[in-house]
Formats: sequence, C-alpha cells, structure tokens
Amino acid sequence: MPADVLVVGAGPAALAIATALLEQGLTVEALVAADPEAPWANTYGIWGPEVDAQGLEALLGHRWSDTRSDFGAALNPAAVANGAVAPGSGDPGAVAHGIDYGLFDKTRLQQHWLQQCRAGGLRWHRGLAAAIRHGAQQSTVTTQEGLELRARLVVDASGHQPVFVQRPDDGPVAGQAAYGVVGTFSAPPVQPGQFVLMDYRCDHLTPEERLEPPTFLYAMDLGGGVFFVEETSLALAPPVPYDTLKERLLRRLAHRGVQVLEVQHEEFCLFPMNLPLPDLGQQVVGFGGAASMVHPASGYMVGSLLRRAPELAAAIATGLRTPGLDSASVAGLAWAALWPLELRRKHALYRFGLEKLMRFPEAQLRAFFANFFAMPTAQWYGFLTNTLPLPQLIAAMLRLFVTAPWGVRWGLLEPRGRELALLSRLLWP
Ligand SMILES: Cc1cc2nc3c(=O)[nH]c(=O)nc-3n(C[C@H](O)[C@H](O)[C@H](O)COP(=O)(O)OP(=O)(O)OC[C@H]3O[C@@H](n4cnc5c(N)ncnc54)[C@H](O)[C@@H]3O)c2cc1C
Repeated sequence: MPADVLVVGAGPAALAIATALLEQGLTVEALVAADPEAPWANTYGIWGPEVDAQGLEALLGHRWSDTRSDFGAALNPAAVANGAVAPGSGDPGAVAHGIDYGLFDKTRLQQHWLQQCRAGGLRWHRGLAAAIRHGAQQSTVTTQEGLELRARLVVDASGHQPVFVQRPDDGPVAGQAAYGVVGTFSAPPVQPGQFVLMDYRCDHLTPEERLEPPTFLYAMDLGGGVFFVEETSLALAPPVPYDTLKERLLRRLAHRGVQVLEVQHEEFCLFPMNLPLPDLGQQVVGFGGAASMVHPASGYMVGSLLRRAPELAAAIATGLRTPGLDSASVAGLAWAALWPLELRRKHALYRFGLEKLMRFPEAQLRAFFANFFAMPTAQWYGFLTNTLPLPQLIAAMLRLFVTAPWGVRWGLLEPRGRELALLSRLLWP
C-alpha cells in the first residue's frame, strides 16, 4: 500500500507539514538525505506574538522586549511625530518597536516536531530523492541509491532549490546575504538585554562606500556576555559577497569602539528572497522554501510555516478522502489552499516592493524604513508577518507612499526594470 503522503526533507518545512498531516490522521512517510535528528545549521528568529499565537513560546531560547532599530540621522519627521523614535535615546534615528522578538531554541523546535512525528507513526526513509513518476492514483519517488517509494501525494519540502517542484524562470533572484559572529566583545556591541532588528547607520563608511549597496546590523544580547552580531544585505542580485559583509561588520564595530575578542560561531547566511510562485498545476506539492514561502520583504518564513501547515494538511486530507479524486486533482486542491488568490496577490505586491527597495540608495532606504516603522504597530507588524488582509496591505502601502518624504516618494513612483510587470501580477497573479 502506498502511504497517503511522502514528504521529502527534514527541515522546518518538512517537519511542520509532516506533523500537520499526521494530525489529520493520514499515513505519512518521509525521505531525507541525512539523519533527520542531525542538528539544523540555521537559527530561526520570530516575532513574539507570532509564536504566542501558536502557544509555542516555550520553544524560544531567547526573548527580548527591548527591540529596536536605528536608521541614523535624516529621519522622516513623521517618525518623530508619531512617537516611533525611542524617547531619551539621545540618538535621533533610534526606533523602539514595542513588540517582543524571539529566537527559537533550534533543538527544542526540531524535537517538538520530531516527537510528534514519532507519536504519529511517521516512517523515515534515508536517501537522496532523484526522480519522480506520476500516475493517476499515486506518485513514485526514486532515490539516487535506487530506493522506490510510492505515495498518493508527494510533498516536496527540500528547500529553496527544490528537487521536484518547478517554478518559472522570472529573471534574477535576489539573495539575502549575511555574515555573523556569535562571540564575546571588548564592549557590548548592543545595549545589554537588547535586540536590534536593523541598524542602518552608516557613519563609519566613506561617501564613496555609501554609494554601494546598503547593509545593516542585526544584533542581539544572548546573555552571559555573549552577543550575536550580523551584517546583512536585505536583498540583492547577485548577493553582496561575504567578504564585503565581514569587512563592513568589523568596521562598524570598530567605529563604535568594539573589538571581537572570541569567535564562538560564524554564520554565513544566504537564501533567495523573491522567488516566483511555483507552477500551481504540478502534481507534486511544495511547502516551505520549495514553495517560495519566504516573505519577499522580510526574509522570514517560520511563522508562516506554523500558520499555514494545518491549512495545507486539511486540504490534502479532504482531497485524499474524496472518493474518485485522482492525485493530480488532490495536488490542485493542495496548491489552491497553499497559494489562494489573496496570498498570490500579496506575494506580487511584496515582490514589487522589494524590487523598489533594492534600487534605493542608503539615504532613501533609511528614510523609507524610518517611515515604515512610524506606521501604527499593527500595520507594520502585519506587513512583516504577512498577516494583513489584502485591502489592509494595500492601505499600508498607500500610507507609506503618502507619508514618505519627497525623495522616497519619487523613488516609489519611478518605474524601472521589471517593476511594472511585477505590479501587474496584483491583478493577474
Ligand atoms: C542562515 C539562515 C538563517 C535564516 N534565518 C531565518 C529566521 O531567523 N527566521 C525565518 O523565518 N527564516 C529564516 N531563514 C529562511 C528560511 O526559514 C530557512 O532557509 C529555512 O531553513 C527553510 O526551510 P525549509 O525546510 O524549506 O528548507 P531547508 O531548511 O533547507 O531544509 C531542506 C531539507 O530537505 C532535505 N533535502 C534537500 N534535498 C533533498 C533530496 N534531494 N532528497 C532528500 N532530502 C533532501 C535537506 O537535507 C533538508 O532536510 C534563514 C535562512 C538561512 C539560510
């Protein structure tokens, strides 16, 4: 008997969807190249309310209430007027976010899902998925080692360069690149107990360097004298090289009188930000990076995995339990649940927005973000977590345009490259 579903992968997306499918009472098998218990390389951050909404706050290893960004001088006055600028900080560009941010304890998060997989009777297979054949009632996956696995539906959760899911070639893909250090420092690189989402100050760069693609500091106090600091490029195609990011990080720290004393861990981060949507007519279903689920404006995905896995699993269960439905039709139902029209339209808007931001020089970008975080908290939080309904997302974008300083407004108006084509997908996603 083929399994109901075969999941390919053992990353956050694979474990989230496998768990949700088991909860639906389906038989689930999973195929992974490496040991599913092997520790994940990445560390995952998330906004506090997102994890609270799932009742999973116990899975956080760290949580900060003092969450800030800094956009340096030349702020949009609206940010000051709306009180987004941190009072008494003595820094004209510091913005207090007023929302908790957390970092998952990655072992706890992984084990949380793995335990549910064990309890639900998930059967693991080891091997590198290499080929797939589709029949009317099932699909067969063959591994590089020659193993054949059959299931009524295959969910590809093999990451941003999926083994099976197809997506159209839509031009250059921008990568979020970052170089980070976990370690000890000669002085605190951020205030004790603080989390810094974006420090875009660039007073350590020469005027020529400020013409180069802007980068920001993402940083946090991990406690016990240990900090994580990471120089990040929001998105660029081709991505900013690690050497540049490392050099910028060390210069930024030195400018504030901070030296690295001990490197405990180095992070080299690169993932695609603006992948086009997959082909929604294919018989293999994607989830996670494989299904272009990274938020194109922020780079976050784990929050949406937690929210969307149960919806996708419910659609798959309904499809598989509907008498007479072939596998292609079940896949169609699944894709429609994962990428309904409203989410596809929002994805188009976010990709359009990112395309704009990637063109902004640093002063414009800093003014844009200062203005962005001057929006009411519910608006910028909903924008960043992809939880605003479409009309509210459009309203937030219009508000950003209307309240932006003229330099930013002109940048938003000026159509360049494929921007108009991306915007048109709002109507025809
Ligand atoms: C350094 C870094 C930091 C990030 N930080 C955050 C963050 O803080 N918050 C956030 O929300 N997002 C973050 N992201 C973005 C995104 O959430 C991650 O990239 C996430 O790991 C993607 O999850 P995934 O399960 O889709 O893919 P992956 O984590 O890449 O997992 C893919 C799985 O598929 C398996 N696999 C691949 N090919 C095959 C094959 N042929 N056969 C069998 N198995 C296969 C792999 O072994 C792996 O188990 C970060 C990304 C990176 C790179």
